[in-house]
Amino acid sequence: YAAKRARLGTAVFEPGDDHSAAQLTVISDLRRALDHEELVLHYQPKADARTGAVCGAEVLCRWQHPRLGLLGPDRFIPAAEETGLIEPLTQYVLDHALAQCGAWHADGWEVPVSVNVGAQCLHDPTFPDQVADQLKRHGRQPDALTLEITESAIIADPLRASDVLTRLRELGVRLSIDDFGTGYSSIAYLRTMPVHEMKIDRSFTTNMRTDASSGAITRSLLGLAHNLELEVVAEGVEDEETWDVLAALGCDIVQGYCLSRPLPAGEFAAWLSARTMD
Ligand code: C2E
Ligand code: CA
Ligand code: CA
Ligand code: CA
Repeated sequence: YAAKRARLGTAVFEPGDDHSAAQLTVISDLRRALDHEELVLHYQPKADARTGAVCGAEVLCRWQHPRLGLLGPDRFIPAAEETGLIEPLTQYVLDHALAQCGAWHADGWEVPVSVNVGAQCLHDPTFPDQVADQLKRHGRQPDALTLEITESAIIADPLRASDVLTRLRELGVRLSIDDFGTGYSSIAYLRTMPVHEMKIDRSFTTNMRTDASSGAITRSLLGLAHNLELEVVAEGVEDEETWDVLAALGCDIVQGYCLSRPLPAGEFAAWLSARTMD
């Protein structure tokens, strides 16, 4: 059974292999997962690098699969992107994350949420209206929502992306460029995008103290983003020493295992109240 499952795992999620029966299974499984609320959201805190105050949470999607157990996003996001299911999935995530944000607000916690958005949404001219509807439906202010967009999603079609991003910015949501430094993109493009924040990829930050080139890249990405007057988030911060170095370099916000792993909503609230108490 294990061997069969392993084989199914690769067959199902192999990008481009969309004719296999297994792939068709995952597509219908994923459709069902959205209808049956099998996708669960975990929340990873972000904190002010200087004060340590929690300033928001990134929303990370998992799939509680009835047969395969809890699947990480790498197991189904690529399939969702290839089949067009990423758009309903993104709406599902926005819907549940904004509902959670509203529930925390009612409990006295202000936790702005950051949601990951792929290329398809960025190239869909109706996406900004969908985001506006979601905010209205959940009674949330636009600045309670940050959308994280990868460099590669922007580069895929910069003109269309820039149009959608401009409308999102006019709406008042915050925009962040995710995985900054990994996209081989021209800084000239990024400079013209109406974003507020850059997230330095964890491949640079995690090892910055031990690997000289990671350290050099992190420092130059930080300088570059600050020169463009963008806020800088360092992701993948795993230990306090790295946090200290980043704070000394003027990094604005940190996120990573050093603060907390991504947590289910209930555990996140418990973590938050324990942290605020001490
Ligand atoms: P990402 O947006 O770059 O998310 C950060 C990933 O780094 C998350 O993995 C997170 O759990 C992990 N991480 C956080 N802190 C640390 C740390 O200190 N050390 C290390 N080694 N890792 C850390 P995860 O949850 O497996 O998500 C993987 C990717 O899946 C995300 O990368 C994002 O691109 C995508 N993803 C997740 N949820 C969604 C979603 O709702 N929609 C879309 N379109 N993509 C999603
Ligand atoms: Ca992200
Ligand atoms: Ca990232
Ligand atoms: Ca990443």
